[in-house]
Amino acid sequence: MPLVSMRQLLDEAAKGGYGVGAFNVNDMEQIQAIMMAAKETKSPVIVQASRGARQFAEDLYLFRLIQAAAELNPEIPIAMHQDHGNSFETCKSAIELGYTSVMMDGSLKEDGKTPSTFEENVEVTRKVVEYAHERGVTVEGEIGVLGGVEDGHGAGGTGLEHITDPDQAVEFAERTGVDALAIAIGTSHGAYKFNKKPDGSVLKMDVLIAIHKRLPHTHLVMHGSSSVPKELQDIVNQYGGNLKPTWGVPVEEIQLGIRNGVRKINVDTDNRLAITGAIRKVFAETPEKFDPRDYLKPAREAMKKVVALRMTQFGQAGHAGDYKPMAITEIAKGYANGSLDTRPSMAAR
Ligand SMILES: [Zn+2]
Repeated sequence: MPLVSMRQLLDEAAKGGYGVGAFNVNDMEQIQAIMMAAKETKSPVIVQASRGARQFAEDLYLFRLIQAAAELNPEIPIAMHQDHGNSFETCKSAIELGYTSVMMDGSLKEDGKTPSTFEENVEVTRKVVEYAHERGVTVEGEIGVLGGVEDGHGAGGTGLEHITDPDQAVEFAERTGVDALAIAIGTSHGAYKFNKKPDGSVLKMDVLIAIHKRLPHTHLVMHGSSSVPKELQDIVNQYGGNLKPTWGVPVEEIQLGIRNGVRKINVDTDNRLAITGAIRKVFAETPEKFDPRDYLKPAREAMKKVVALRMTQFGQAGHAGDYKPMAITEIAKGYANGSLDTRPSMAAR
């Protein structure tokens, strides 16, 4: 099966009332882990690569691996997404490679660190939407600024400094026509999200609910949404790691988000922890081993377990066969004739 439009995956998820995990990849084992989990749970899935991942793996290696995943798993709808594109050029290069979705993160300037102005964000995002939609490619924008830094991308801080303003979110959706919107509700990238179990004072679910009410046709995206479970932290630390205690986003909060318009949930840290824990365990217990397969195989298995669990928790499990993926060219026609228009003034027709 060719790679599928992320928009179609998210529209179907909205119909079915579930969320779709978007899992970051850098290498073959991570892609295989995701596909093993998707196959086992019969889940449609979003695979995503950051700029750092594209650089690390060299674009073409990574993209060919995704194509192999699609070819080997014809029953699984897979969307390939550029995570946190920092400029029009980054998004364009992903689209030229064959990605079916891009994120234009115009909440930050091109350096990926400095918060931009609202007008700058609208301008660059609208330009990406125009280019992408002509080609049937989905666009995710971001309004408000997330906390933390991951892969060199992020403004730092706690995540509470630039919470999304619902009025701005509506104006942004209207002026850009994005398919999906990442909003800042207090979450942060990386492992160190919260220094205690997050509650209403740090996780602004009320803001998310308010935005969904006003933008029912724009799919909401939760970033920095690893749960950072203690069990995974413990395995890393038990075998010589040194992680400080930290809390992620509880799965119940994500599920509350899914009941209120969240369709894409980004998960990276949990998988990183699972992989590292599994590798450390092999190194600690069998120091005589030196064949990379001896630790990459358990690492892949550990990541698969986490991904399969999230697929079940997000509700995407069992939905792989619900619909027939449309060709990207068909999706492009939908953008051209207005039937896929999400702008609040248009989508209400
Ligand atoms: Zn992110």
